[in-house]
Amino acid sequence: LKNIIIVGSGHAGVELASALRHRGFDGSITIVGDEPDLPYQRPPLSKEFLKGPDDAGLPLKGEAFFPANSITLRLGERAKHIDRDNREIVLDDDNRLAYDHLILATGARNRIPPIPGLDHPSILELRTLENARLLNERLASLTHVTVVGGGFIGLEVAGLLRARDIAVDLVESTSVLMGRVLSSPMSAWFRSFHEQLGTKLHFETLVQGVHRDGAHTEVRLSNGRHFQTDSILIAAGIMPNAELAAEAGLSVDNGIVVDELLVTGDAAISAMGDCAAYPNVFTGGMARLESVQNAVDQARCIAARLTGEAKPYDGFPWFWSNQGSARLQIAGLSNGHDGTVLRGDPESGKFSIFLYRGDRLIAVESVNAAADHMMARRLLAAHRSVPKAVAADPAANLKELI
Ligand code: FAD
Repeated sequence: LKNIIIVGSGHAGVELASALRHRGFDGSITIVGDEPDLPYQRPPLSKEFLKGPDDAGLPLKGEAFFPANSITLRLGERAKHIDRDNREIVLDDDNRLAYDHLILATGARNRIPPIPGLDHPSILELRTLENARLLNERLASLTHVTVVGGGFIGLEVAGLLRARDIAVDLVESTSVLMGRVLSSPMSAWFRSFHEQLGTKLHFETLVQGVHRDGAHTEVRLSNGRHFQTDSILIAAGIMPNAELAAEAGLSVDNGIVVDELLVTGDAAISAMGDCAAYPNVFTGGMARLESVQNAVDQARCIAARLTGEAKPYDGFPWFWSNQGSARLQIAGLSNGHDGTVLRGDPESGKFSIFLYRGDRLIAVESVNAAADHMMARRLLAAHRSVPKAVAADPAANLKELI
């Protein structure tokens, strides 16, 4: 391999370039990214960055890293087409770049529900640094925000808004918070946590319309309720950026479909990170995960393969989310759990929930219990279980099981 092109300058793309050099790859590496900013981390955008806007901690690598490692960064440029026959990508300005291997790390974009009034410029969203800068600029003048979506990002922002005494109404279409990723007892704990912070939660309802009259904006919900708001933040989930792959004839099904080596149907093209759907060894099914762990570990797996050490991807999934004073950490995927064991006291704000399928531990959710989380990660990654009686006893030392 001489020429590697990476489309997407996010977590996965930058990690791949870095890992390739780390492993001694000496061919050319080009990253094409359509965002103008030096590649940055997204997690702080809904956390530290909104507390005091400071770009300093955001970049994934210092500016000097790229030239020092002979990595060509083409920022502000978009790949619009893949010419698979000639192994070239075509950029927006019709320039062509040749590849021996192409990696798609195109990430995802926010899903904007098709609701009248949500296509207005005053609507806020949070995926990019540009979005976060705009939100920050607006914060000072806001007294009420409507958050659409009760997932990680909507709830992280709601927590920060409440800390600034900004009123929040949060609208969630299902009956629970973070229902796609959390067990019901943990989701219920977060419901009362956010209610105590003063966020008004609306479940099983949709924003039906947004009506503007001069300086006033009114949000109307499908359950008949309505209220005045200063601004609306859409945090209703994301969609993989898979159009480039689909248009090139690659298989797409909730993301760009790859095999266990993270290769698409074309042996010269891989995909990774938020945009890729891959066979997950822990669930046995296809998964598309939206996390830094997934982006970074997949990038390292591809770097290893491209430098001669092909190995199926078996990265162990873990996540985190900071909401108000609650630091949520999740080890493993909870899909299909049929039993839960509580460890610690939820009233104390520091506890974990161990999730089982039969007698087998499959995931652990922790709030302000970093030690439980770290132990769970080590045990689960090694495919080890924890007897339920041990999990239930906070005095029992999990370390001894390792
Ligand atoms: P991305 O970071 O989305 O990068 C993809 C890049 O490709 C983008 O810049 C995109 O514009 C670009 N691109 C797309 N198409 C093209 C094209 N055709 N040509 C050129 N460029 C293109 N994860 C956690 O684990 N913990 C957290 O606490 C957490 N918090 C988050 C908070 C926020 C506000 C957000 C938005 C995400 C958060 N995440 C968190 C998720 C995490 O940031 C993502 O999983 C991760 O960034 C995925 O990396 P990626 O490289 O796959 O995609």
